[in-house]
Amino acid sequence: MAKTGDKASAFLIDGKTPGVHVNRPEEKMGLRASNTAGLTLEDVRLPKSALIGGHGAGLKIAFTALDGGRIGVGAQAIGIGRAALAASLKYAHERTAFGKPIADFQAIQWKLADMATELDAATLMVLRAASLRAKGVPCTREAAMAKVFATEASYRACNQAVQIHGGYGYIGEFPVERHFRDVRVSMIYEGTSEIQRMVVARALLAMS
Ligand SMILES: Cc1cc2nc3c(=O)[nH]c(=O)nc-3n(C[C@H](O)[C@H](O)[C@H](O)COP(=O)(O)OP(=O)(O)OC[C@H]3O[C@@H](n4cnc5c(N)ncnc54)[C@H](O)[C@@H]3O)c2cc1C
Repeated sequence: MAKTGDKASAFLIDGKTPGVHVNRPEEKMGLRASNTAGLTLEDVRLPKSALIGGHGAGLKIAFTALDGGRIGVGAQAIGIGRAALAASLKYAHERTAFGKPIADFQAIQWKLADMATELDAATLMVLRAASLRAKGVPCTREAAMAKVFATEASYRACNQAVQIHGGYGYIGEFPVERHFRDVRVSMIYEGTSEIQRMVVARALLAMS
């Protein structure tokens, strides 16, 4: 994306173009299986054919891409949340405390119930937004709602998964420690939770 005159335009750039630099991969809290690196563009010259969608179409392209990206990040978070739930169910049967499996304690059962309920609600919201997008129906509000709810519900599920695992939840031997770190960024990238709430509120106020 770059400013062309007073507008934003989008360009497709070959990574080997002179002046395009891929920076050193960042040290991240989670998602360590995939590298994240910034790009630096220094006096990059492009042919006219690199322009996507015409002069000034950049913002529209960015916003349209964001709707799809937000649905994807919502789904990604739910996947992590569901893995945390599965690990917690397994552990609740295996771990005994005070002479019985911790699955027998109501305090643990309620956590599991809340995790599953919120993850199901999140899944339905993501499917609603995805279905609208697949039909070509505008879905900016639904995508933002799905993203903020799904990522925050999945974060809560991962947090509870750590709690259910007790001390083992905090060390690398069990997968929930990684799920907790991995899910955190879903509330930040592709637009933070604050920005999603802003998008939803803006849509509501415009309709009222
Ligand atoms: C692992 C990872 C991968 C990424 N991948 C990509 C990528 O592939 N492509 C890409 O373009 N970017 C990528 N990003 C960047 C990411 O999209 C941004 O970090 C994110 O959108 C937040 O922007 P920011 O960091 O500038 O936060 P800021 O905008 O500086 O926000 C800081 C805080 O202020 C709040 N805030 C900001 N503005 C407002 C407002 N108007 N009202 C209320 N609160 C506000 C934010 O919600 C946040 O809490 C990636 C980031 C990470 C961590």
